Amino acid sequence: MANEVTYQLYIRLSRACRIQAGRLPYRRLPAGWYVYTGSARRNLAARVERHLRRDKPRRWHIDWLLTRREARVIHVVLSQAAECPLNAETGGEVLIPGFGASDCRAACGSHLRYLGSERPAAVPAESLHRRQPGLRALRTALGAEE
Ligand SMILES: [Zn+2]
Repeated sequence: MANEVTYQLYIRLSRACRIQAGRLPYRRLPAGWYVYTGSARRNLAARVERHLRRDKPRRWHIDWLLTRREARVIHVVLSQAAECPLNAETGGEVLIPGFGASDCRAACGSHLRYLGSERPAAVPAESLHRRQPGLRALRTALGAEE
């Protein structure tokens, strides 16, 4: 397998939620699209698959979002780019300062970014109608690299 270490989860939140992740304060997240950028040096596929499961103990900040029924991973992108520069390039708005950024030394502010209410260009339109779009996108990304 290739050496992708960074992943981006494109998440659709079907309605606004108040979430309180780990020790962060409560914040309101508007409905719409989010992208979460993370990395795993080992077992990247297993890490992403864990993100795609709703039923799990909450460990990382992102778990507080992805265990919500309103949140769904619609698309997954893998990359060999370093996590923080990729996050910075992706743009978007920081709504929860410090989210997913506990071990970030690049002043990202947050590894969860709000992209607005329109489907981001990186997300294929047909993904919205698939049953397990995140898993499918992950498998396609992994398969394409073999
Ligand atoms: Zn960072």
